[in-house]
Amino acid sequence: MIRQPTPELEHRWWCSRCKEGYEVNPLDPKYLLLTPVMRCPKFDICGGYLQRRGSKRANVVKNWQVFQVKAHDLWLATQGFGLVGERKCSPARLLKLMTSRIIAGAELEPAGPGGSMRTIIKTLSIHTDSGIKVLHFASSSKGATIYKVTDG
Ligand SMILES: [Zn+2]
Repeated sequence: MIRQPTPELEHRWWCSRCKEGYEVNPLDPKYLLLTPVMRCPKFDICGGYLQRRGSKRANVVKNWQVFQVKAHDLWLATQGFGLVGERKCSPARLLKLMTSRIIAGAELEPAGPGGSMRTIIKTLSIHTDSGIKVLHFASSSKGATIYKVTDG
């Protein structure tokens, strides 16, 4: 039996935990960044991995949500930098997002060994008009950097 090509399915990666897929144009110049198995963009929440699936899985995943993404954007998301919308972290957006909000939680850890007097902030969850948003922090030479905002 000759296997019939299904190009649209060969270029999709699926997370079985999120029940979501990401489709990439095979002609995308950064396509080769992608591997058959990658960390899910929402790994912090689901702990899952994306797997490239062919037509044999079509019946299983046909009702799952599929996002059209560029290869470089998907690769960045699998590295923990967030999807395109999550990486929009301008000062104006963050000021609007953070002003007069109630803190719902934070992911903190001591900055040094033995009960340090300083604290590293990794995430800050705040209540917003559209639900809880999680701000993700990283360090920089000028201070803390917020590099992505995800749903909580
Ligand atoms: Zn996932």
